[in-house]
Amino acid sequence: MIDFQTIIDQITAEVTQEKDKGAVASYIPELGKISANKFGIYLIDDQGNGYGAGDSQEQFSIQSISKVLSLTMAFSHLGSDLWKRVGVEPSGDPFNHLSLLEMENGIPRNPLINAGAIVVCDVLVSLLKDPKKEFLAYVQKMANDSTIAYDPKVAASEKATGFRNYAAANLLKSYGNIKNDVDTVLDFYFHNCAIRMSCKQLANTFYIFMNRGKCLQNHEYLNLNQVKRVNAIMLSCGFYDEAGEFGFRVGLPGKSGVGGGIAALLPNNFCVASWSPGLNKKGNSKLGMLALEKLTTQTALSIF
Ligand code: GLN
Repeated sequence: MIDFQTIIDQITAEVTQEKDKGAVASYIPELGKISANKFGIYLIDDQGNGYGAGDSQEQFSIQSISKVLSLTMAFSHLGSDLWKRVGVEPSGDPFNHLSLLEMENGIPRNPLINAGAIVVCDVLVSLLKDPKKEFLAYVQKMANDSTIAYDPKVAASEKATGFRNYAAANLLKSYGNIKNDVDTVLDFYFHNCAIRMSCKQLANTFYIFMNRGKCLQNHEYLNLNQVKRVNAIMLSCGFYDEAGEFGFRVGLPGKSGVGGGIAALLPNNFCVASWSPGLNKKGNSKLGMLALEKLTTQTALSIF
């Protein structure tokens, strides 16, 4: 049996020694207030045993990691009709890139870049009566944790500075790929990004992707066919224009956010969440990537 606790304790001791911790995102002013010295990691195995180290119980803004959760909800409602409105190819571009959207007539490359997630939010606004309330309840149930909440300050900060997201949403609307009011869709999108979780809560939430679509309480969120596809999208698109590098170094499907979180998993084996707010140039957590690279290298556990 692998001693996950000893391994993550060692990894935490090692990566927190790094001098260059990356740069905390400041384009969303609220995120810029977080210390670059935070580091947490939490791993949950296939039996549901949890192992934490560092600041693994402290909450942070999950940002784009929420795109996997909104995708899950929309996909489970719409099935493969969802792919008429958003693709499944890596973009090779930054998460907030716009020109590809114009070249490809308003069909975003994939649901894990901003434009794709905004389309997914539009799908959910059409499907749900009270999208913010119902989406949060869905995530809370997935994690079996009713304390998970939106951070209204982060949502407001994003709204005040979300010029590129407004540009993307308006471009999508001009191509007919947003059906609802742009402000309503973006308000929902900004709130999704502003969900707060700890590494522990995030690993518990992502358990479904490791556990064939079922949460810790054994409720089914995705069927086997669907969870295979969401994991494939995470592998090829979860790290924007660094998805190749993450696959190369870590070798797991996963998703990052500009709050410095990363969630990743090995199907039927373990699920892990890390948090370190300093980002590299591609917008992914610098120490988080290093920690996960060490984890899959030391345990020899990856999809490859
Ligand atoms: N809320 C952020 C944005 O829309 C999410 C980006 C991210 O985490 N990569 O810009």
